[in-house]
Amino acid sequence: MFPIDRKPPASVPVSGKWSAVRPNVLVVACSDGRLQEATDAFLANQLGVVRYDRFYVPGGAGALVPSGYDFVRAQQMRRECRYLIKLHDVGKVVLLMHGPVVGGGIEAACADYRRKLPRASVEQLREQQVVDGSQLLQQRTKWAGTAAVLIYRCEVDVSGAIAFVDLAAANEPRRATQGRS
Ligand SMILES: [Zn+2]
Repeated sequence: MFPIDRKPPASVPVSGKWSAVRPNVLVVACSDGRLQEATDAFLANQLGVVRYDRFYVPGGAGALVPSGYDFVRAQQMRRECRYLIKLHDVGKVVLLMHGPVVGGGIEAACADYRRKLPRASVEQLREQQVVDGSQLLQQRTKWAGTAAVLIYRCEVDVSGAIAFVDLAAANEPRRATQGRS
């Protein structure tokens, strides 16, 4: 580990050049530092997203929804998100949530979701995220304007293995069932 108290020189040149061209992609993810390497690997390898604007806040995409509890914060976060999308002319938004797999450990749950729902089980937290993801997709024009929106949950199993699951797909069977009834 790099010693955090070691002071670098006053000016440190790094490789790579700055570009005025904006990435056109915004990633909304949780601040949780345990997920950042996996997140960057997923974005680069599966979505081809290497340069991106970041909206990293506790809860990630979950910060944009109240989950039946946090209405004021959700409104504020949506306002910031909408502002950034407009300011940087973002065309695509990647929403990320995170938590344990089915039967996974509560310690892998998003701390912000546990703050909002302190008595919820792993299954209840997972279900709330699916509900919240559905709400974000349904209301996308309100907070994302005309930008395309993708949504994934970063899921951790008991061995620490990580997978990204498409939450839009998780919502589809329910919509299809509703459509038939
Ligand atoms: Zn989190």
